[in-house]
Amino acid sequence: MAPLAIARREPGPEDVHLEILFCGVCHSDLHQVRNEWQAVMPTVYPCVPGHEIVGRVARVGSKVTKFRPGDLAAVGCMVDACRTCDECRAGNEQYCKAMPTFTYNFPDQCLGGVTYGGYSNAIVVDQAFVLRVPAGLDPAAAAPLLCAGITTWSPLRHWGVGPGHKVGVVGLGGLGHMAVKFARALGAHVVVFTTSPGKATQALQLGAHEVVLSTDAAAMAARAGSLHFVLDTVSAVHNVNAYLDLLVRDGTMTMVGAPPEPVPLGVFSLLFGRRRLAGSAIGGIRETQEMLDFCGRHGIVCDIERIPVQQIDTAFARLLRGDVRYRFVLDMSSLR
Ligand code: NAP
Ligand code: ZN
Ligand code: ZN
Repeated sequence: MAPLAIARREPGPEDVHLEILFCGVCHSDLHQVRNEWQAVMPTVYPCVPGHEIVGRVARVGSKVTKFRPGDLAAVGCMVDACRTCDECRAGNEQYCKAMPTFTYNFPDQCLGGVTYGGYSNAIVVDQAFVLRVPAGLDPAAAAPLLCAGITTWSPLRHWGVGPGHKVGVVGLGGLGHMAVKFARALGAHVVVFTTSPGKATQALQLGAHEVVLSTDAAAMAARAGSLHFVLDTVSAVHNVNAYLDLLVRDGTMTMVGAPPEPVPLGVFSLLFGRRRLAGSAIGGIRETQEMLDFCGRHGIVCDIERIPVQQIDTAFARLLRGDVRYRFVLDMSSLR
């Protein structure tokens, strides 16, 4: 990665101009800069990634009521949507029928070209897509809530995870560690599945009740048919059937990880037990605010490694190896 000068629009009446303090490093950033999602979302270079943004409000437009200069505020994966379709009106902007405007690598309606994300000094966003950060949360550790947080919160809420549920979390990275914290806070029994023996102790500290090394065939077999819900956060192609087999009858496994290649599916894992395989993308704006407020009430933030932007290449290399505990967050003061 190399530095690049980019333009931001002059704030319009509804716009909030944020000075970016921190930006989380999502594995999606890595997929995108490596153009691994070429078939679905080809990368337009130069690409400025980053959609886990916390900043300080510097300026607001004349019609902005939600924010004042000096406020802490946040921006996630979307900076706009059509706001008129059924999905937008229902608060599901992430499923906007006209496609939401993603925070980076998406056609920029105002300036032309593509949108540029949070690995930068500043960003200008319509107030409708800017979130409030609850007081008391560490702003650096709160930044990854804007993607890793909402992406795990939304499916856990949608599928009604709570007391009496046994929930599996597959992959203990940025998303996975937040899934553990949320599932635990929602009252579920949490089982982590990891390929990294070194993460086992920390998984328990994060709130898991059990940790299973997914390479341990006996430990996997012992859990067959026992989980009500599985959230799969793995970033690479892996054996999803091994996790479908762990579901109870009518149990649901939801994919949030986005491996670039198709994932092989053995349908018998679905047929026996009438199991369901689902997917979920980030979350809506209202839901994101609810998640942030929940974190504020419960003191939940991400476990982060704070780094200067100059270390992004090393962070990407470590992310690629699954060597992350559990989110890199760029301290954007290093850019100034
Ligand atoms: P991450 O921090 O790199 O975590 C991914 C974890 O998956 C790794 O820590 C590792 O956990 C496990 N893993 C990696 N390679 C593996 C392999 N070959 N086999 C088995 N397990 C492997 O990534 P992240 O930021 O949490 O993102 C995870 C995925 O979610 C990415 O594909 C990202 O693009 C996607 N994503 C989707 C959405 C959405 O809206 N659906 C939003 C954000 C991100 P262990 O060491 O514990 O095995
Ligand atoms: Zn992300
Ligand atoms: Zn819409």
